[in-house]
Amino acid sequence: MLKATALIDLILPASCLLCSDQAARDGLCLDCHADLPWLDGPHCPRCAIPTPLGEVCGDCLQHPPAFDRSYAALCYQWPVDALIGHLKYGGDWSLAHPLGAWLAHIATADHCAPDCLIAMPLHPARQKLRGFNQSLEIAKVLARQWRRPIHPSIERLVDTPSAAGAHREDRARQVKGAFRLRQPLSGQRVVLVDDVMTTGATANECAAAIKAAGAAEVEVWVVARTLKRGGMGNPAG
Ligand SMILES: [Zn+2]
Ligand SMILES: [Zn+2]
Repeated sequence: MLKATALIDLILPASCLLCSDQAARDGLCLDCHADLPWLDGPHCPRCAIPTPLGEVCGDCLQHPPAFDRSYAALCYQWPVDALIGHLKYGGDWSLAHPLGAWLAHIATADHCAPDCLIAMPLHPARQKLRGFNQSLEIAKVLARQWRRPIHPSIERLVDTPSAAGAHREDRARQVKGAFRLRQPLSGQRVVLVDDVMTTGATANECAAAIKAAGAAEVEVWVVARTLKRGGMGNPAG
């Protein structure tokens, strides 16, 4: 079903990204779309990690995050991990559109529209190296769907290393003070968009900065959620 070689040849708008059949939905054929590792079971409303009955998880009870809710479309596993890797490290930013569409796919009428979106910023040095911010490209898909603006005035002051192998406490130390808002967000409901949530520490630090700027509420929307705690082997925070 999934061909690794298909990853080499991703920019074929009429073809499925994964099997080269005709694309029918958001860059995939219907079979591959259905086979994606959707994270659609019960999960912690705060951090989107699966929990048996959809209750708040132990980590969020013990250390309530600065964000109010999280939504993740997919599990961070094959083929999502490969596609996100290809987007970030292979420089194929055309993948941001299908990934954004898969994230937008989980939004229902129950989701109250935010006042604005914020894309998880990259440090300027990293953005210069990569040429684009994958989270901003993904956020643009949601912004178009919700007809809401992307708030531009956030900056990343610290270029943090990959979270691979980091535990949440280590990651929290690495990202401490990493974000700053240049304009107030008084009373606004903000959706923070990122590609992957691993330990949740980066989203937590960013949400804390957004709240410090006056936001009333912060939801985190990520394409994929790492299910294993501790961020082992994953390239995001
Ligand atoms: Zn397919
Ligand atoms: Zn949780």
